[in-house]
Amino acid sequence: MKKKDIIEFEVDKMEFGGTTVSQLGNREIHMKGGISGQKVKAAVKKVRSGKADVKMLEILEKSTLETQTPCKHFNECGGCTILSIPYEKQLEIKEKQVMDLFLKQDLFGFQFQGIQGSPQDKLYRNKMEYTFGDEVKDGPLTVGLHKKGRHIDILTVDGCFLVDQDFVKVLTSTANYFNEKELPYYRGINHKGYLRNLVVRKGVNTNELMVNIVTSSQIDFDMTEYKEMLLELDLEADLVSILHTINDGLADAVQCDELRILHGRDYINEELLGLKFTISPFSFFQTNTKGAEMLYTMAREFVGDHSDKVVFDLYSGTGTIGQVMAGAAKKVYGIELIEEAVVAANNNAKLNNLNNCEFIAGDVTKTVKNLKEKPDLIIVDPPRPGVHKDAIRDIAGFNSNEIIYISCNPKTLVLDLVEFKNYGYEVEKVKCMDMFPNTPHVETVVKIVKK
Ligand code: SAH
Repeated sequence: MKKKDIIEFEVDKMEFGGTTVSQLGNREIHMKGGISGQKVKAAVKKVRSGKADVKMLEILEKSTLETQTPCKHFNECGGCTILSIPYEKQLEIKEKQVMDLFLKQDLFGFQFQGIQGSPQDKLYRNKMEYTFGDEVKDGPLTVGLHKKGRHIDILTVDGCFLVDQDFVKVLTSTANYFNEKELPYYRGINHKGYLRNLVVRKGVNTNELMVNIVTSSQIDFDMTEYKEMLLELDLEADLVSILHTINDGLADAVQCDELRILHGRDYINEELLGLKFTISPFSFFQTNTKGAEMLYTMAREFVGDHSDKVVFDLYSGTGTIGQVMAGAAKKVYGIELIEEAVVAANNNAKLNNLNNCEFIAGDVTKTVKNLKEKPDLIIVDPPRPGVHKDAIRDIAGFNSNEIIYISCNPKTLVLDLVEFKNYGYEVEKVKCMDMFPNTPHVETVVKIVKK
């Protein structure tokens, strides 16, 4: 086998994160994508002793696991890679993937409570960030998601299973409206053009909707007619916020140079487990509201009785977890990097009449050691790269009896748990929560205790 060879094989094992490992003769084939049992054609990218990295070119035969009818964009859209597998089977696969990662690090001897499915496996997303572009070069304007493995080709995903009809109506009417206006979309290659993103957010428990149209400042277009068009749509939710964000940043990310309110207010409300949260256009909020309620309930169960305890909520975002704990706790301290989120967290705590919460802006790695009070319980919910080694040292240094680790990436989770083990913390219980049905992602909640 050598580079650029075209090979055919049957996909064997799906690893966490959407990669697969298959055996071809005495060689291990590593590939991005694929479902166990599929027969695929692939191009060899790199050969090492006993291993090869390949790029999938074509699915020759479906897997017997694929018995569910996917949406019309499946295999073209880069979104839901396992939508063709029935939901119960998806859960089984994810549960095993997480368990395998624990065993690989010699982490065993704990109570494994399996995986909890999302309350909804479709229509569960409360936020979509769509991009303007075209599907084929110089074709009509599209707005939607990137085609699988492509940076510039955009599909108007009007048949997406992850969002409700309000999202679809806003998406298709926006595509039609701007197609008629013949405005250019923004091209990342030369940084020229106007239309960049369309962000739609919904308060699932409050039925409030936000539409945020993101453009460059290169054209001075009057958005009044667009706003009127949106307000005339027949939507289930209340459209309480229509925003126009000017973004001249060079990176392919939504940032804000200027925010113009076209209609209503610049935030929506959401409720979680009876608590109120205001969501601003750029702040992080769990994208599956009903799933988040389950995740936080799970975390609360893992904590058990926390009455009169001092709790640290590290990587606190808008302070959701801390506030869920604050009802019973004596005091909650949160640390979060993004200043805007910290302001929102402190405001939300006031809104919920919680006077025992203090959210602080800072990097956990640098700031946590400065907290003066001794915690009885520490909760960490880091982003995908996990907790920095120095932060693990400082967190363990507080000597609290219990730590709850909520993770969106089990690969870094298990490495961090090994590190915590070096400081005397043993894994007591583990449970997975599927916040992202039909995609390869999964959330994991772990309780570790000081031995
Ligand atoms: N616990 C929150 C947010 C979890 S997402 C919730 O459930 O909603 C992870 C958060 O960590 C993000 O808000 C991100 O901004 C923050 N973050 C990333 N790196 C950080 C660091 N080094 N120090 C503090 N916060 C960080």
